[in-house]
Amino acid sequence: MKYDVTVIGSGPGGYVAAIRCAQVGLKTAIIEKYSVLGGTCLNVGCIPSKALLDSSEHFHNAAHTFKTHGIELDNLKVNLEQMISRKSGVIKSNNDGIAYLMKKHKIDVYNGLGSFVNKNTIKVTGQDGQEQQIETDKTIIATGSKPVNLPFLPVDKNRIITSTEALSLKEVPKHLIVIGGGVIGLELGSVYARLGAKVSVVEYADAIIATMDRALGKELQRVLKKTLGFEFFLGHKVTGAQVEGDTVKVTAENPKGETITFEGDYCLVSVGRKPYTEGLGLENAGVQMGERGMIAVNDHLETNVPGIYAIGDVVRGAMLAHKAEEEGVLVAEQIVGQKPHINYNLIPGVVYTWPEVAGVGFTEEQLKERGVKYKSGSFPFKASGRAKASMDTDGFVKVLADAQTDEILGVHMIGPRAADMIAEAVVAMEFRASAEDVARMSHAHPTYTEAMKEACLAATENRAIHI
Ligand code: FAD
Repeated sequence: MKYDVTVIGSGPGGYVAAIRCAQVGLKTAIIEKYSVLGGTCLNVGCIPSKALLDSSEHFHNAAHTFKTHGIELDNLKVNLEQMISRKSGVIKSNNDGIAYLMKKHKIDVYNGLGSFVNKNTIKVTGQDGQEQQIETDKTIIATGSKPVNLPFLPVDKNRIITSTEALSLKEVPKHLIVIGGGVIGLELGSVYARLGAKVSVVEYADAIIATMDRALGKELQRVLKKTLGFEFFLGHKVTGAQVEGDTVKVTAENPKGETITFEGDYCLVSVGRKPYTEGLGLENAGVQMGERGMIAVNDHLETNVPGIYAIGDVVRGAMLAHKAEEEGVLVAEQIVGQKPHINYNLIPGVVYTWPEVAGVGFTEEQLKERGVKYKSGSFPFKASGRAKASMDTDGFVKVLADAQTDEILGVHMIGPRAADMIAEAVVAMEFRASAEDVARMSHAHPTYTEAMKEACLAATENRAIHI
């Protein structure tokens, strides 16, 4: 078969790229080495983690806040098997949805490992070892990433686990030791803490979610301690882990240089992800690698070989599903001569803990570092009528605006539904709104979004109404 475009990898980068290619009239194929479509995000990432976060949040609320709402339950218990099975059902229904979309757009799906024979020929090796070759004019590599393994932390997938195993545990851990205070560790730690596990987070940096605005990590740390009993060990360098029967012993060096040992029944290693290019045969097409295992691309996401592009987790930038999707669309449109653009500064980052955390644009630390003069306005959820009604009063919205022009430069929030609320900030910043522009727009009452309006009022001239 001969295609205009072949996409390797069916994660959010790959399948979205394939759909956009088909939409703009290109004959398109997609190759996926697993038997189901959707990549990390759908099968072992965004979607299953959110399914478990939702289920566990229901349990936590039923156990801790329903009574205050006047709802009394007896004999509340967790059926983890059912929870995991519901999660699997959510994945399956999305797998089917993507398969349907491929059919709808007449995209040919090949199941098997895709590897370059040369620039225009790709071999697909099925799980049964059967090989077939396809010819292609252009190729989009979207092979994603996999968890980083540290040599002194031997993942046995049983007691020392990655996020993938954490999404399908057979029991609620008694004590889950989470190595890494980033998004994945905190989200999956929250799932099991809500179900009754003691959770200890061991982090090398001096802050959790350290790449986001520092105020967010501080508040999240406070709230997770208060509501879920999380313990944090920041500035701790993990030096080893070993399994003894049903126990995992993790050793770490504390900030004083002393060695301490944590004992738990599970240890989740969530220290980051690395680009995945194994078996792709990039050398056969002459594609050059960049730093840290990434495929090197130019501003148009094209590799050093004309006609071969790479997108998503396998290239530089944030490892986020929506970033991969935007890149997939960009490449497809470029192939047919359009001039799309991505503003990487406006890709929002979200943590789906409760409260949720979200940010877009420059952090306060970045503005200081760059010497930009800015104004800051904050509004706490404890002053929001909507948040009081739902008893979700932790957190705040912080708006950073240019000191002279009032243009919004960054929005950082922690609070109820922050993951959804950040969209307003992205829209405002895409259209280069000033803080006063947003402050003068009507926000429905009572909603959490009023906190955004109030923070903009605070940033404009310190004229928030409700604080
Ligand atoms: P992937 O989704 O990794 O897909 C790559 C695909 O390529 C895979 O299916 C792989 O099997 C296939 N492949 C690889 N090599 C070959 C080959 N040679 N031939 C054929 N197929 C191949 N991001 C968010 O934005 N929001 C979240 O809430 C979120 N939560 C996450 C939670 C967890 C636990 C994890 C692990 C990640 C999460 N992420 C989240 C990150 C998100 O999953 C990734 O950023 C996203 O999946 C990257 O998309 P991609 O298309 O680049 O690659």
